[in-house]
Amino acid sequence: MKTYKIAVIAGDGIGPEVIDAGIEVLKKAAALDSTFQFQFTYFPWGCEFYTKHGKMMDENGIDQLKEFDAIYLGAVGFPGVPDHISLWDLLLRIRKEFDQYVNIRPVRLLKGAKTSLMDVKREDINMLFIRENSEGEYSGAGEWLFKGRENEVVMQNSVFSRKGTERIIRYAFETAKNQKRSLTSISKANALNYSMVFWDQVFEEVSAEYPEVETSSYLVDAAAMLMIKDPKRFEVVVTSNLFGDILTDLGAAIAGGIGLAAGANINPERNYPSMFEPIHGSAPDIAGKGIANPLAAIWSASQMLDFFGYESYGKEVLNAIEELLTEGQVLTPDMGGTASTQEVAERIVEIM
Ligand code: ATP
Ligand code: MG
Repeated sequence: MKTYKIAVIAGDGIGPEVIDAGIEVLKKAAALDSTFQFQFTYFPWGCEFYTKHGKMMDENGIDQLKEFDAIYLGAVGFPGVPDHISLWDLLLRIRKEFDQYVNIRPVRLLKGAKTSLMDVKREDINMLFIRENSEGEYSGAGEWLFKGRENEVVMQNSVFSRKGTERIIRYAFETAKNQKRSLTSISKANALNYSMVFWDQVFEEVSAEYPEVETSSYLVDAAAMLMIKDPKRFEVVVTSNLFGDILTDLGAAIAGGIGLAAGANINPERNYPSMFEPIHGSAPDIAGKGIANPLAAIWSASQMLDFFGYESYGKEVLNAIEELLTEGQVLTPDMGGTASTQEVAERIVEIM
């Protein structure tokens, strides 16, 4: 029997609540199959840890995580700890150190889920965002050039390397080719006259290697509008770190809400663990009440199953989510129901 070692960083706010739910579902999937199981190891890292130790995770945290097959992350961030610290000292650090340069975020309207758009068919909202996850606008490079109120000047640099740009675009082409779907590149070359001109150029170059993949290219502003007005244009989408972050929140809004949006941070070479997480934050306003929607965390658990090669179980989890949504009986308050996080998890497991 194969044992997958999962590092669990439940984190802050609703993180632990939704991760508990996701773990129930992972355990259920493993119970359906006698060839694999999961072993979960918990790490108490996050903002509470920060208030005690002045850092978000152990000094040698990256070394501790290295030996795991995957990381399952809830959410980090809580009032009182500056967002850029909680983000950089844990989430972005793990993404970078483990070279998880692919961020996969489905923007797909599941059966039974409600969209905020009018006049749109369910099948029209079925995008797969592939977001660059290691550099770009999130390079962390910059400088406080001049301090002092009057003349204050701050610089924040984007870094687009040949290696970093090519590998994400190539990954997107491979995905589009395998799924027999079109690929859209989203950039902003009219205003960002170095980085995005380069991005477009690399997209063109790599595209020549994939004549079978139909491509299109949009400016990010036009893409934001078209995702609302004509979402069926978009199938597989590749874009930069910042644009991907923003557009997938927009995507969450049209595909059933932030409580349903999942994300996977992948190191395709599998030299390091990949990380699975709901894309929502720690939601301090509803933390501790037991009413957080666990479906995003559960969907990311399904992505983890896919990643380990158990696509049939990944699909089964998604089917269970669709059935639960279609029944409409056991939903958390953000989806108009009265059920608790735990009740949703139990119903999903029951359906499976
Ligand atoms: P971060 O900076 O970590 O992204 P944030 O404050 O921008 O955090 P969220 O924590 O995602 O964003 O919260 C945004 C809103 O969505 C809040 O009102 C929160 O209660 C709600 N929300 C987020 N996740 C969930 C969830 N799983 N279930 C129900 N409501 C949620
Ligand atoms: Mg946010």
